[in-house]
Amino acid sequence: MLIDGHGRKVSYLRVSVTERCNFRCQYCMPEKPFSWVPKENLLSFEELFLFIKVGIDEGINKIRITGGEPLLRADLDKFIKMISDYRDDLDLALTTNGYLLKPIAKKLKDAGLKRLNISLDTLRPEVAQKISQKDVFSKVMEGIKEAQKVGLGVKLNSVPLKGINDDEIIDLLEFAKSNGMGIRYIEYMENKFAKDKLQGLNAQEVQDIISTKYSFKPVGRVESSPAHLFELEDGYRFGIIDPHKHDFCEDCNRIRLTAEGMLIPCLYFDEAMSIKDSVQKGDIKGATEVLKEVLRNKPEKNKWSSDDENETSQRAFYETGG
Ligand code: SAM
Ligand code: SF4
Repeated sequence: MLIDGHGRKVSYLRVSVTERCNFRCQYCMPEKPFSWVPKENLLSFEELFLFIKVGIDEGINKIRITGGEPLLRADLDKFIKMISDYRDDLDLALTTNGYLLKPIAKKLKDAGLKRLNISLDTLRPEVAQKISQKDVFSKVMEGIKEAQKVGLGVKLNSVPLKGINDDEIIDLLEFAKSNGMGIRYIEYMENKFAKDKLQGLNAQEVQDIISTKYSFKPVGRVESSPAHLFELEDGYRFGIIDPHKHDFCEDCNRIRLTAEGMLIPCLYFDEAMSIKDSVQKGDIKGATEVLKEVLRNKPEKNKWSSDDENETSQRAFYETGG
């Protein structure tokens, strides 16, 4: 079992397989970065897998593949299969923008993927174009349909933004509900890469909008998940992630690995250690030591609401996988 320096059990590893993306979402990567990490600096799937095995052997039981856009990385289904063949009872999930999903959804399912989070901020093609700065809507919708068709569990992630998609909060809820999917609204997190002047809705504002049509009650959080859940009268549950509070830090169970092999104990801090040398040498003992050191130093609370810019992370979401 993995226990961090504050006594929390860590069992969830998020793995970013690329920082590259085919969208330019205003809140994440509005401009193509000045330079991408050169391909040769990325860990191979075999190298990432070596670390994943170390994590699983030490107590990781939930893995999420993310990015950038993870479906840009060739042979992702083979990587999923490597992991799922090693431990088929893992909670193995993927977060994607859905654009490249349709042709690969069945392969991912057959490889052992269980669940998908698909980012969907709007049901209007022109708004999708505005947010992602690309004509993406129809392909994303096809991806969502196909994922459901092949039997993958689908949850939607949605970032409500003032003056852009804040009039679609109820529409998105109804779309998710009527199609048998979950939905989580994520408060927009300010960061230096996002477009200026973006303003997100906070958790209370999202609830206020939904309450104009539906009655619902809070039902707490699923253990260690950052989402606060709410239940409509018919039992349907939606979630809101409010990183500006840090109540979910108390039982935070996650660590993150970037595509370059940096192991990150908290999304909101710059501290990280590299596992690259260890995995490239096949040094399991070394990789285990880095993992334990990172856990010893995992911060107690995120600093998202800190006013001091130097205290919050300067890393981009597309690097860390959000
Ligand atoms: N490209 C994939 C996608 O968009 O689903 C995976 C990576 S993306 C960084 C993961 C999640 O982070 C997405 O659901 C996205 O909406 C969210 N995200 C990115 N930037 C954000 C921000 N500034 N505030 C809140 N959520 C953000
Ligand atoms: Fe790409 Fe996802 Fe970031 Fe949008 S949120 S730019 S799809 S990594």
